[in-house]
Amino acid sequence: MTTTRFAPSPTGYIHVGNLRTALMNYLIARKAGGTFILRIDDTDPERSKEEYVDAIKQDMEWLGLQWDRIERQSDRLDRYAEAADKLRDMGRFYEAFETPTELDLKRKKQLNMGKPPVYDRAALNLSDAEKEALRAERGNGVWRFKLDHERIEWNDGILGDISIDASSVSDPVLIRGDGQVLYTIASVVDDTEMGVTDVVRGSDHVTNTATQIQIIEALGGTCPRFAHHSLLTGPQGEALSKRLGTLALRDLREQGVQPMALLSLMARLGSSDPVELRSDMAELIDGFDIGRFGAAPTKFDVQDLFPLTAKHLQSLPLTDVAEAVAEAGVPADLAEPFWAMARENITTLADLKGWWALCRDGAEPLIADEDRDFIAEAIALLPEGPFDGDTWGKWTSAVKEATGRKGKGLFMPLRKALTGMERGPEMAALLPLLQVIRAKA
Ligand code: GLU
Repeated sequence: MTTTRFAPSPTGYIHVGNLRTALMNYLIARKAGGTFILRIDDTDPERSKEEYVDAIKQDMEWLGLQWDRIERQSDRLDRYAEAADKLRDMGRFYEAFETPTELDLKRKKQLNMGKPPVYDRAALNLSDAEKEALRAERGNGVWRFKLDHERIEWNDGILGDISIDASSVSDPVLIRGDGQVLYTIASVVDDTEMGVTDVVRGSDHVTNTATQIQIIEALGGTCPRFAHHSLLTGPQGEALSKRLGTLALRDLREQGVQPMALLSLMARLGSSDPVELRSDMAELIDGFDIGRFGAAPTKFDVQDLFPLTAKHLQSLPLTDVAEAVAEAGVPADLAEPFWAMARENITTLADLKGWWALCRDGAEPLIADEDRDFIAEAIALLPEGPFDGDTWGKWTSAVKEATGRKGKGLFMPLRKALTGMERGPEMAALLPLLQVIRAKA
């Protein structure tokens, strides 16, 4: 059965880059009728925070990315220790004692000599006595996985055939000196034991994948299918990594972005399919195909979310936005006509307040000198209430007859006098909502 997982580290709020990963894994699972796991990668006790775990869940719920199972790596430390023992028994694990400064120096020397900065495995030559002495002096060493120096190959769901020479990669550290298990091994143990069949993640993980394939094989597991999506850049192709902090999902929510707008964009961005607003999750699932994504960096422009949000809002019935309409101050008996008028004229729900303020308080009228008499005459002709959708038509016909004005010369001065603006909602829909006019009726 298809099983995927989204595996964020709870060290910050999740952002659009994480969402791309989460969504692809979610859609693959749902399309196949499989299982989607939310896995909290919290093996780092210093940086992992409970508040971020809660925030990740809230953000996922906001988007409707419901998980079937939740797992936490901090609950599974004994499983990782067992795997580490197994690798140790197999002779694939060795202790190394270099300090970060020493490693840095080695890397610089290698680079100076035009060589790739790969760990030189000096620790493999240490005798037991030397290790004992180093341990006494520096404390426990780190544990590195000894890669087999051969080519590591896989068929990537997005990047195609990949082949990496293991000797160009440093033996990965899987356990720190203080005993902390690192993501590289924890992830492998989880993916294997949880039956994960498909792993989609960012292309910054390609080298990890190469080393993880060897670890999975050493532990006797089955490799999942891997796919690495390209990283997001800004609209000009600039790196987004530094700005991702400002593109947290909760900030977008705060700015009024609607979940369907965000999901519709992220499910298509970087693929050969056009971005289109989807009406619901089922449509997104149906239209998703990982094979349509390309390896090139993907441009993301936060501004693209707003037209999609506006379009989505336009499609909603009052029942879906009743709370926001009430919060904007609109009385219940006007909610229906207010929403019918406003939904064509908003980008986000935050704009409702402004339209209600216009209805309630009226606008500073914009009346040109030459229109003063005309406006006074028109106001005198306002029909008896109550006002409805036909009132505007009846009124302007009467005004036309009385004044001889027509077309723009008739409508524009009325619009400007009533709304203070040259453009805006349909006057037929707006007129019955204008409270000063209603008061007269
Ligand atoms: N916790 C890892 C990350 O956030 C997970 C990577 C993976 O999907 O394996 O980068």
